[in-house]
Amino acid sequence: MKWKQQLFGMKAYQPGKPIEEVKKLFGLDEVVKLASNENPFGSSPKVKQFLQKDESNHAIYPDGYAQSLRTSLANFYGVAENELILGNGSDDLIAIITRALLYPGVNTVMADLSFSQYWHNAEIEGAEVRKVPLKNGVHDLEAMLEAIDEKTSVVWVCNPNNPTGTIVSDDTLSAFLAKVPKDVFVVLDEAYVEYINDASYKDTLHYFRDYPNLILLRTFSKAYGLASFRVGYGIAQADIIAKLDPVRAPFNNTILSQQVAQIALQDQEYIASCREANEIGKKQFVEFCKQHGLNYFPSQTNFVMFEVKAPSNVVFEEMMKRGFIIRSGAALGLEGYIRVTIGTEAQNARFLQLLGEVLNEQGVLA
Ligand SMILES: *Cc1c(COP(=O)(O)O)cnc(C)c1O
Repeated sequence: MKWKQQLFGMKAYQPGKPIEEVKKLFGLDEVVKLASNENPFGSSPKVKQFLQKDESNHAIYPDGYAQSLRTSLANFYGVAENELILGNGSDDLIAIITRALLYPGVNTVMADLSFSQYWHNAEIEGAEVRKVPLKNGVHDLEAMLEAIDEKTSVVWVCNPNNPTGTIVSDDTLSAFLAKVPKDVFVVLDEAYVEYINDASYKDTLHYFRDYPNLILLRTFSKAYGLASFRVGYGIAQADIIAKLDPVRAPFNNTILSQQVAQIALQDQEYIASCREANEIGKKQFVEFCKQHGLNYFPSQTNFVMFEVKAPSNVVFEEMMKRGFIIRSGAALGLEGYIRVTIGTEAQNARFLQLLGEVLNEQGVLA
């Protein structure tokens, strides 16, 4: 068969082991997943109330334009309805952008380490991937600018960055955006924007008005606690949306997901309370790292990437045996580190207690 050449040797995305499988494997009653940066508190209680009495007709196709959710998002952000694109998660939007703008002969610039879907999709389209190393865990925007040439089609800025959790300063970001050539598409992936708690952070929404070559990506999967419903969205000037929309599958959000996202968006008090709880949890991790002299990246997200001074995969396995699923740094490209989603205060305390035991066994904390 006439497969795309680039598919040979490619593997599907490797998600963490599901909770039920880990329970069976190690005979555990309780397993906590701190691997995929889901909200440990779930979604707004208003979503649950709605789902209990939902009587929508599931035999008919959803509104492919997601009109009702679109209107809510437009009002929430003060943007026009034609400045929005809805995705089946922001993963879907990453694929749409890639399909629209990347092909053999062009290149795409991104940070290393950053979110794997950028290069994964680019490789499928046969574009050249240019990875620019992080500087102290932060996007090196100057070096990324240097990596851009006349063949560059898309540049990805993950802010805050997954897996390090860091943000770029507003000054460096605005200087970077001013210098990116106008024919290069800039993706500002802000999957964790609701968790940012740095006083120096300035809202980025205005950038899409300033730059007709920029899109902001946000999602209901993280702080909103709706990862299973798969709703993400992009904000860009109407001309960009009009170019991307034909690439989108016609019914890429379900009826239920459109409804719950709209309800969740209205409950900003819930988001604020999750952000506060996340700050408490973050302090638990930072305290642990300081106490044991472990390097960590300052996080503006609901996860922390930190040093374990032991093989990442060993720590990953040992924590899994003890009922915690995390991400091994080896799988993310940084051996000797782990990435852990911030859970509830009790989950974090238990996790750190067990991690202390594992690191003792490994001779790290002795
Ligand atoms: C989780 C994540 C996404 C994807 O989220 P969806 O569930 O597809 O909306 C996109 N970008 C980053 C950086 C993420 O961490």
